[in-house]
Amino acid sequence: MKPVALTFDDGPSRWTPLVLDLLREHEARATFFVIGARVRERPDDVRRIVAEGHELGSHTLTHPRLTEISDDEVRAEITGGLEAIEEVLAERPTLFRAPGFYAERRELAIVEELGLEAVFAHVDPQDWRPERDSHTIFRLVLDELREGVIVDLHDGYPPRPTSSRTDCTPTVEALDHLLPCLQPEGYEAVTVSQLGTPAAP
Ligand SMILES: [Zn+2]
Repeated sequence: MKPVALTFDDGPSRWTPLVLDLLREHEARATFFVIGARVRERPDDVRRIVAEGHELGSHTLTHPRLTEISDDEVRAEITGGLEAIEEVLAERPTLFRAPGFYAERRELAIVEELGLEAVFAHVDPQDWRPERDSHTIFRLVLDELREGVIVDLHDGYPPRPTSSRTDCTPTVEALDHLLPCLQPEGYEAVTVSQLGTPAAP
């Protein structure tokens, strides 16, 4: 089987249980990059993500654009995100994804200094755009799928001022169509760690 890694950012949210239901139904594994502030609102979703065999990564505490804040603020955002997860799971993740993939040399050095591995993505259907419908998301992912890719999807939306859609239903619907296509095409959905080397920036 050809491994691929589905990843979900900006949760947990009210769409996370729907994503988890679909993943369970299709015996697929995924990786969730959660926002610390959301973790505190929905700790049960975080516990369920891990209990059902998925991987958890951090996506900062409040989802700022890291390239626009100071070193100390970058550290506080990353550490705060890890602590929010630790409060729920009593352990810290080792994977990290920068909001909007905004991470350059300085930010990546801090990520590494904090013992984290930065994860990017190869397939980016931009499902967070308000105009993206489920069929477009489904086609964009399926057309670019190949062995070893990391796919970026969203099971929630960030706090202001980041602009994003406020309804993640199109991603849930796209997933409902995508997951049954994987096995017949020879793909297996695994976690980022199971995939091996994360995508380079
Ligand atoms: Zn995000």
